Amino acid sequence: MKLPSRSKSYMIPEYSVTGDLLSYLTCNLQYRYQNKGTLPPSKPVQRWFGEFIHGVIEEAYIQWNENNTQFPWDWKKDIRPIEDLIDLRLQVRGLYSHDEDLFFSIHNQPDEEWTIDDLNEHDHKKLASARAEKAINIWGKDLFPLIDSSEHLIKGIRKMPNYDENHSRSNYYGINGVVDVLTSLKINKTVEQSNLDNIDNKILQYLKKDKEFQKKLAEFDDEDEYEIIIDYKGMKRPPVEVNNSKVENSWETHKQQILTYSWLRSQQESSKPILAGIIFYLNELVPSKEDLVLIKEELNTGLTDVGYEYDKDIDLINNWQEDEKAPELSNGFKQDRSIRIINVNEDARNEALLKFDSVVADIEESMIKEMKGSKIQDAWKGDSDERTCSACDFKTFCKNNTVNTKNFKIP
Ligand code: SF4
Repeated sequence: MKLPSRSKSYMIPEYSVTGDLLSYLTCNLQYRYQNKGTLPPSKPVQRWFGEFIHGVIEEAYIQWNENNTQFPWDWKKDIRPIEDLIDLRLQVRGLYSHDEDLFFSIHNQPDEEWTIDDLNEHDHKKLASARAEKAINIWGKDLFPLIDSSEHLIKGIRKMPNYDENHSRSNYYGINGVVDVLTSLKINKTVEQSNLDNIDNKILQYLKKDKEFQKKLAEFDDEDEYEIIIDYKGMKRPPVEVNNSKVENSWETHKQQILTYSWLRSQQESSKPILAGIIFYLNELVPSKEDLVLIKEELNTGLTDVGYEYDKDIDLINNWQEDEKAPELSNGFKQDRSIRIINVNEDARNEALLKFDSVVADIEESMIKEMKGSKIQDAWKGDSDERTCSACDFKTFCKNNTVNTKNFKIP
């Protein structure tokens, strides 16, 4: 008797919205070394802070859900133990903060008597702690009651762009992503029409002030439910435009990320109509001096979308010198700059998906070239700006490096 042989396994390439799309657009070649070659960056500071702040908010939500701790939270009693827990979790994964980013673990220094008053917001040493405290006490109070699910995994498949039977690796590809927070809200037109000041939730107030969102809401019946996708970013609000064609336009890429998430979520059975996404740029709550320099430049050149009505804050920023203590900005200015609403509509969503397809097509093309024998630097295009190249681990041997590495010495 002839036994049938098992059919060849069918695998489709998987792409992640943040890991692949955002990283590939920063520099194709760096993406190849880091993601496909699984070489972790040697100084993953940005990654450490991003993971730290996500972990802190996630854990704070779990604890709020269990204990219903009233806001504002006490930094030393309620927040510091969470920071410590997340820091230790990241260390297990090989992610360490720079000494100046966070207080040392209290487990190592049991005698230290830190209090919230020791937190000088603009001192680099305590920046991560200060941001965690503000993220929880400014947004947590309004965000936590809206959370339906957090760290929500979403997946979908799409047709492989430019599919060719003899050339392509597969006829489909998979997209995946993790939504930080999914909220489900009920439409209540009596509330929509009431005075905004009566709504006791800052996030809903921002949504209700957004004209495009309101227009969309009006299309639904009372008592219908809708969803909002929320994402946090451990960075400042990006400028709406970039002058340098080599710099990735984060403003646009973040929008694409939300729109792609909304498509992926809409494929899941339990989903309700997704009306908008919200991004929280958490560095805006406690900007570092480097952030302030960029905010000042963007306000003066019209490259940012928010903040122009805050004359006092603009004066403070313009009169501030880099060697001085950072100015005390108003809460309104900081909150307005840290929240961004992205309305979801069919056309914008299709455009974002086509962009994702074209990034996948480019990655697949380079991958196939390399599989057919091209050298890495011939198959992948190294093209980035000076700032990205100077922080890149591959600058010493990259042909397209835009910084001078002649004086580089091996330690
Ligand atoms: S040195 Fe610059 S061009 Fe080369 S891989 Fe790094 S970021 Fe890309």
